[in-house]
Amino acid sequence: MKIGVISAYSESESRVALTPDAVKKLSKLGFEVVIQSGAGQAAYYADEMYQAAGADIASSSTEVVTQSQIITTVNDLPTEAINGLSSGQIVIGMLDPYRNTQLDTYAAKGATAFAMELLPRTLSRAQNMDVLSSQANLAGYKAVLLAANEYSRPFPMFMTSAGTVKPAKVVILGVGVAGLQAIATAKRLGAVVEASDLRPTAREQVESLGGKWLDVPMSAEEAETAKSTGGYAWTPSEQYIKDQAAVVDKALSNADIVITTAQIPGRNAPRLVHQSTLAKMKAGSVLIDMAAGTGGNVEGSVPDETIMTANGVRIVGAANIPSQLAAQSSDLYANNLVNFITTLIAPATTDDASANTLALNIDMEDEIQGALAVTHENQVRLAKC
Ligand code: NAD
Repeated sequence: MKIGVISAYSESESRVALTPDAVKKLSKLGFEVVIQSGAGQAAYYADEMYQAAGADIASSSTEVVTQSQIITTVNDLPTEAINGLSSGQIVIGMLDPYRNTQLDTYAAKGATAFAMELLPRTLSRAQNMDVLSSQANLAGYKAVLLAANEYSRPFPMFMTSAGTVKPAKVVILGVGVAGLQAIATAKRLGAVVEASDLRPTAREQVESLGGKWLDVPMSAEEAETAKSTGGYAWTPSEQYIKDQAAVVDKALSNADIVITTAQIPGRNAPRLVHQSTLAKMKAGSVLIDMAAGTGGNVEGSVPDETIMTANGVRIVGAANIPSQLAAQSSDLYANNLVNFITTLIAPATTDDASANTLALNIDMEDEIQGALAVTHENQVRLAKC
């Protein structure tokens, strides 16, 4: 059975879905792999490395689609590849399901499309397939380095004969996987860190990393809702949003670096930093908006651009930070995909290891496959968010 890799390479995407190491793992399982020429080059994986691992090289995405039973990708497929799909083919990638306008075409073609973002993350057997965590962890780390690069002072405290250098004050808004890694990285660089999230359970994690929790008052009813959402974001009341804005306003007036990571699956990111707060920030301070690609946590942030406000505040619209660590993020993403692909295979029906006995076992009753499949048997099966 053949697995194809479509090139995601563009100005804004350097990752590749499978690495040469993943090709070796899949070959051991009995798969063949074909990769679109140049797909790995921006992640430092040349065609020759894939060939050495046993993959074939194809010259175009349509050639990959024609040859493959399973097609892997980083983001959504290019339209010409979707148009080439036929019934029963499998597509696996971060398909951005709630904003994907091509799902009807996937369904019309009869393809089964798996959107990796929809993984049930609390299932322990799914954790090694969790692309959101593998990518967000790296993104949280790199966001701090991006901020350090834009900032015209150091992060750690220095005692020098020319004077004392104060440590940078860093505020992290949204303390999921990316936020926690950002706190850890900023602490390692010697910054003083404050952080907030609408999940009260995040407080303990912030404090265990040496950060200070920025508390937003919450009604008893909201505290109960927050507990019952199983660790995921809940919809805050107008009062909470107002109180949160006041806490953010005070913290950011003193901050040197702000990293915002707040996302809501399937919806636009919440707006956490408003113009009125930006106007109070210090000249030279830096904001990294990691939600810039989904509407932005920071008013005025522009995806993939750095803008400077009139009062000298830099806002970095970091829409795709994992792409900036393409070699490592591709390695982890590829591992996630290999782990998922392994679950799509029916147990061997013969003891003869030399026989090519691989067969797909597509089962919408399976709790992982059923959650990830956004099209199957000519239907779009995405639940409304
Ligand atoms: P995410 O990227 O969806 O969002 C980042 C953070 O922003 C979250 O912590 C969220 O609560 C917060 N946020 C959203 N709206 C906000 C608002 N208006 N104000 C302040 N903060 C806001 O989050 P994520 O990193 O994907 O993690 C989401 C949840 O999943 C977390 O509870 C995390 O611990 C959990 N998780 C569990 C597992 C597992 O069980 N294996 C794995 C990964 C993540």
